Amino acid sequence: MVVIMDGKAISQALRQDLKKRIMKLKRPPSLNIISVGTDPASALYSKNQVKASKEVGIEAHHYHFDKILNSELITLISNELKNEDAIILQLPLPDGMNTEKILNAIRPDQDVDGLHYTNVGRRILGHKDVFWPCTPMGCMEILDWYNIEIEGKHAVVVGRSNLVGKPLATMLEKRNATVTQCHSRSKPLSRYTLLADILISAIGRAKVITAEMVKRDAIVIDVGMNRDENGVLCGDVDFENVKDKCSYITPVPGGIGPLTVTELLANTVLASERKQAKN
Ligand code: NAP
Repeated sequence: MVVIMDGKAISQALRQDLKKRIMKLKRPPSLNIISVGTDPASALYSKNQVKASKEVGIEAHHYHFDKILNSELITLISNELKNEDAIILQLPLPDGMNTEKILNAIRPDQDVDGLHYTNVGRRILGHKDVFWPCTPMGCMEILDWYNIEIEGKHAVVVGRSNLVGKPLATMLEKRNATVTQCHSRSKPLSRYTLLADILISAIGRAKVITAEMVKRDAIVIDVGMNRDENGVLCGDVDFENVKDKCSYITPVPGGIGPLTVTELLANTVLASERKQAKN
């Protein structure tokens, strides 16, 4: 019998723990969310992040700009936000903006999405006190919540973005899985996915992972957030057919999405705890 992994319920439990940690602090943690342009997904993520922050007691501020110069955004981050606990930049930025330069203007100790190159490098070197991106953290959290053994498993990650696929592969490798990383040139994709004990898809294309591509009793984590032909939110995995073949599966919505937001809150609380411990 397949287990449908409940990211929403896990998130609620984790958020209760975060509330308790926040109550022990001298002041509420602060999270600053920056978005630029007209991307509807960024607008929705920002709104959800502000709402979730307020629910647990984090002071969240959303800075939205229809248009802004790279230099102006860097000034905001380096000057006005320099005393804040946490900053997240919604990606992608509009064409013409220097994403790397702006991400690296966020101090590593405020970088709760873990994309500053100091955090990226320290992770690869095995440092512990470092921020990891929120979506891969959510994937690991859900595996741990269901007590799924990672060590010794063959994990196949489809996708190699800096935000999801790459850090996720590193996290799985650190937990002693043997990791295969696939991407758009891995052909045929089924050659790799069929060997997965744990299959994690972070592609961004509706229902690319079909039942024929999944090993019986595999654990399937779906990071994708897509719209199907009827405009309905769906993942990368053909959920209805794959669920009869695997042992565990995450739904979309209600799987990794809520956990990604929760991990952002967790990283923000951690950033604030570290900062307040120093003062
Ligand atoms: P991305 O930067 O566009 O990366 C997509 C990756 O998928 C790339 O590595 C690409 O390969 C690979 N790919 C594309 N088509 C493929 C195919 N047909 N077969 C195999 N690999 C293919 O996207 P991302 O930021 O990592 O996000 C991935 C998905 O996760 C999106 O749907 C996004 O909305 C979702 N997401 C969800 C959450 C959440 O909270 N649930 C958070 C973040 C992202 P190449 O490198 O060769 O181009």
